[in-house]
Amino acid sequence: MSHRIAVIGGDYIGPEVVAEGLKVMEAAGVDIDATHFDLGAQRWQRDGEVLSDETMDELRGYDAIYLGAVGGVPGEIPGGLIERGILLKMRFEFDQYINLRPFLLTEQGIDFQVIRENTEGTYAGEGGFLRKGTPHEIATQGSVNTRHGVERCIRYAFELARSRDRKKLTLVHKTNVLTFAGDLWQRAFDEVAAEYPDVETGYQHIDAACIHFVNDPQQYSVIVTDNLFGDILTDLGGAISGGIGLASSANMNPDRTAPSMFEPVHGSAPDIAGQGKANPTAAILSAAIMLEFLGEADAATRIRAACEDVPAGSTTDIGDEIARRVS
Ligand code: NAD
Repeated sequence: MSHRIAVIGGDYIGPEVVAEGLKVMEAAGVDIDATHFDLGAQRWQRDGEVLSDETMDELRGYDAIYLGAVGGVPGEIPGGLIERGILLKMRFEFDQYINLRPFLLTEQGIDFQVIRENTEGTYAGEGGFLRKGTPHEIATQGSVNTRHGVERCIRYAFELARSRDRKKLTLVHKTNVLTFAGDLWQRAFDEVAAEYPDVETGYQHIDAACIHFVNDPQQYSVIVTDNLFGDILTDLGGAISGGIGLASSANMNPDRTAPSMFEPVHGSAPDIAGQGKANPTAAILSAAIMLEFLGEADAATRIRAACEDVPAGSTTDIGDEIARRVS
């Protein structure tokens, strides 16, 4: 069965790493019907286009979106323009409410996944300025937490925890200070937990979780957390499990009412673009999550196995070696 994939290579190393991901998927025998979309900071610099509603309508028709990285040289592009205009626009409008990031470092016994709520919290854009630019300026940034949004995320995390060998789910929040949002999260968590008696549950404050990530990451199987905490915690997760070159992610709409988007965690790395220095493994592992989501579990498993202990080399050397292993 052919999968219709919208490919957004993006900027700088983005197209370099997705090229290797496409190569590996082909080597794994998966039939990918790829359509490339020219989007990102460089496109915006050329003709002012970020991501039009017409292009969004077109993207809506694909089975999935495979993205490299978007963003220009820091400081050259207005802050938030590309992040909000492309990444957050897709997350919100395609209701990609689950952000999934796996962390695996077998030799250290690290094997857990973080489920981050992806459409609410402080990223929902609630807030504004009052008396901007004056000495009495006020800026507010609210956090939006709906029972529906929180519960569907927690439910997804419980299902994931139940499917794993270690059936354990840890809620991470800051319920002692963020008492309104924290209360809603904890209540929803406890109520859903009653439906999953086979899953061991736990709770950690975000600050404590940061310490445990460094000192004892082996304790986790699945973590569920809100948008902002998840954003920060998963970068720490990347740092303790092999670095930015290995960190993969998915922005998923599990209800499949719109396409999900799969991308490496790293950015467009203008500093190393065009030099063959970008590690494509994160993009290749993101392709593996995409294949699993599309029902190609066997190919996904083979790609994950092929990404272990890959020798250093240029971007294409690494892609070629992984492709050789999966074919
Ligand atoms: P970055 O992730 O692009 O780079 C940070 C550092 O990690 C750099 O030294 C870079 O060389 C290195 N690096 C990143 N990916 C690598 C890889 N695959 N292999 C080897 N080294 C790698 O972060 P940044 O420099 O803060 O951001 C650059 C641009 O990317 C900015 O415009 C930013 O907004 C954007 N960005 C986009 C995304 C995304 O598309 N999801 C994510 C983060 C940053």
